Amino acid sequence: MGSIEGPVYTSVLDGVGATPLVRLNRIVPAGGAPVWVKTEWANPGGSVKDRAALAMVLDAEQRGVLRPGGTIVEGSSGNTGIGLAMVAAVRGYACIVVAPERTTAEKIALLRAYGAEVVLTPGLVPREDPRHVVNLATRIAEETPGGWLADQYGNPANPDVHTATTGPEIWAQTGGRITHLVAGAGTGGTITGTGHHLHEHGVTVVAADPETSRYGGGDGSPYNVEAVGHYLHPLTEQDVWPAVYDTGVADRTERVPDGETLRTVRRLAREEGLLVGASAGLAVAAALRVSAEAGPDGLVVAVLPDSGRIYLSKYFDDAWLTTLGFLDAPEGPLVRDVLGASEPGLTVVPATATVDEARAVLDGYTGPALPVVQPRATSATTWAVPDVVGTITAASLDGVRGDGPVGTHAGPVPAAVGHGENADAARERLSGNESGAGFAGGCGSGAGPGSEDPVLVLVDGRAVHLVSRGDLG
Ligand code: PMP
Repeated sequence: MGSIEGPVYTSVLDGVGATPLVRLNRIVPAGGAPVWVKTEWANPGGSVKDRAALAMVLDAEQRGVLRPGGTIVEGSSGNTGIGLAMVAAVRGYACIVVAPERTTAEKIALLRAYGAEVVLTPGLVPREDPRHVVNLATRIAEETPGGWLADQYGNPANPDVHTATTGPEIWAQTGGRITHLVAGAGTGGTITGTGHHLHEHGVTVVAADPETSRYGGGDGSPYNVEAVGHYLHPLTEQDVWPAVYDTGVADRTERVPDGETLRTVRRLAREEGLLVGASAGLAVAAALRVSAEAGPDGLVVAVLPDSGRIYLSKYFDDAWLTTLGFLDAPEGPLVRDVLGASEPGLTVVPATATVDEARAVLDGYTGPALPVVQPRATSATTWAVPDVVGTITAASLDGVRGDGPVGTHAGPVPAAVGHGENADAARERLSGNESGAGFAGGCGSGAGPGSEDPVLVLVDGRAVHLVSRGDLG
């Protein structure tokens, strides 16, 4: 315990920044470099984004673009919005936050609790779509009298606050002994600002990125780590990266699959007592790799952006993890036991292929239906579930002209089960789940209604097989 004399703040905003570093004790590899974590959830709004939110508002006030009685508007996956809502409450502004629909319920409730108005919009849309988070927020800011768009993606106050605070804090707290900084990138503000400062001291900067994120060279397909990395909708014409992200700041990138990230999140809670979000798990998973490589003379610092408390319904919900194939049910038989061993690999056809091309793929294909997927330049054999747009069969294409895109003929998106779900529980869940029912090729083969319906089998959040419902036993 430290001194009993805590500080007295003039407002809660004095509590932004100066967060502690905590040493990891149990999950660091033997012989590896120590890993210390920057506890950004200790900011009063609960995340690293409090720093950017406060800095952007103070800068806008100083420049006279945000005036008394004004409205702060931002597109945010949650934390920047929460930070801005907190600052708005203290400084007397209204606040409107545009958030993607997949944002956790806890984050949306927090935004409303701080008095912000929340506008939900589909998250997985092309960049040019007027419903895209950034486009919608920009329009709302323009149409709101006294509206000011914080624009975390383009506002230099975002990275600058990390150059001025986060970087120097880490340098001072480690007594200049840090050798490696590890951080993820959403807007890139944290890694750009902190990285620039620490680079001047010779520190190696490592970006942690979800495996399929575009930043690290992935195919841009959806992943299960909220608020970090870069998703690319296949119909996006011009992929826009945040202006504030200096992608040259990282000396290298560690690409981390979601399974490794989410298992690290669980270990941090259970073995280190650190309840953190998935982007923190991503950073630590990368930091553990760096630690093993750096050896005992190194000192690795990972930035942990937020707390796990706002993801209890996701990363800490065993049912959520199990149905996505990240976790095994405590009791078998598991779905994969019932299905038997087979090489993971999903045969697919892109939605942009012609019907004739799809027929050629169907020729000799023995599965209950063929998944139709978003077109991506990839040779992947596993697919993110949101990229599966539906399925086709030879029968469903009967009499259809051969030269049109097959995507317009796809039936409903199949239901999905995790490979580690209890098979009986999975069957029961599917019988109450109509998303696979009504499929053109399903029903009526003798083993019960819907036994021919296609079902995706997920491993670590990605579809690896397509089976029929009857295959589950
Ligand atoms: N993790 C979480 C949980 C976040 O909310 C954000 C902000 N989008 C980040 C990481 C990335 O931070 P930055 O925008 O500074 O790159």
